[in-house]
Amino acid sequence: MRQASLDLPCGPINPRKTLFTMETLRPHDVASPPISFDVALRYLRDFPLLELGKRAFAVKRARYGDQVTFVSNRHVNPTNLCVYSCRFCDYAAKNGDAHAYSLTEEEILQGLENPVVHEAHIVGGLWPKWGFERSLGLVRRIRAARPELFIKAFTAVEVAYFARMEKCTTREVLAAMMDAGVDLLPGGGAEVLSDRIHQELYKDKIGPQAWLDIHEKAHALGLPSNATLLFGHIETDEEIVAHLFKLRALQARTPGFQSFIPLAYQPGTTQLVAQLAAPERCLRVIAASRLILDNIPHVKAYWPTLQIETAVTALNFGADDLDGTLGKERIMQLAETGSPEKLSADFLRTMIRQAGQHPHQRDGAYRILEREVA
Ligand code: SF4
Repeated sequence: MRQASLDLPCGPINPRKTLFTMETLRPHDVASPPISFDVALRYLRDFPLLELGKRAFAVKRARYGDQVTFVSNRHVNPTNLCVYSCRFCDYAAKNGDAHAYSLTEEEILQGLENPVVHEAHIVGGLWPKWGFERSLGLVRRIRAARPELFIKAFTAVEVAYFARMEKCTTREVLAAMMDAGVDLLPGGGAEVLSDRIHQELYKDKIGPQAWLDIHEKAHALGLPSNATLLFGHIETDEEIVAHLFKLRALQARTPGFQSFIPLAYQPGTTQLVAQLAAPERCLRVIAASRLILDNIPHVKAYWPTLQIETAVTALNFGADDLDGTLGKERIMQLAETGSPEKLSADFLRTMIRQAGQHPHQRDGAYRILEREVA
């Protein structure tokens, strides 16, 4: 077994002990969903927090035991130049802005040369100079240089933009992406699947139904995808539950979601809200997601937005994956998240051990590459 003496900034959290044990759980706690809208609302509001965590952890443990996964990955954000201006976005820039950047293909490929990187996650701004042909060309070059690398690329928002620019269908864009070597559609751009929030915060880009349609088309073509939720801004509890129910319904109809990733909104300089969602709120969202999305395999504790301490605790509230090392993540950095831009694999292993779980390194398809047992 690997050992590490790294302490987290929050200090040790009951090393090698979980908050809940199987002895405290009854069988029907493990097999509960589907859950009604009203019960789901209670999970977000006033359901006893530790009881909620216990139930979500039981579901996670019934599926994965004490295994928690992570991936050595590299986030690739080719440019932050973007034609749109979503109200919550601190990442995007216009030409001439001090924080505007655009990478070259050579810079991107250099970052992916390291053979310990098992997954590339490619998302960026919508910008004519990073149009469809160039973006596909990037995927082809990565595929040629690293045939075994798992490539997760282009959100539904980018797919819709490419289709509009190329005057073709989103199905044609998705098929061309698969042909170039894309393995999975990332979950970004879902924000909150609510027409009200679409109008208030991100009306330039595709709304809830278009996002769902593109993911359903991807699944039908055989391209799996992820789903996200951006919470902690102007959304209501009802809108979060509706979001989760829409994802669950799509998965039941046309399966293909691999992971669900709740993203805590980073206030940055947008002045949308004063501060990051409280840890209790983050844990409620993680646990409710695990219980409601009983047909989506994985729930991530995405450490860049949850913060490290809450991400560790979330591993006892139903999350079974920490995402990855990231390499050089730019989107949350420009939102002034306060989290590091990357973490080492050893640090991620230590976070998982701090939650009393066993770290397993995976690839982008959740194939286990390295197993750690007690
Ligand atoms: S959220 Fe995406 S589409 Fe909206 S402004 Fe930011 S980069 Fe552009």
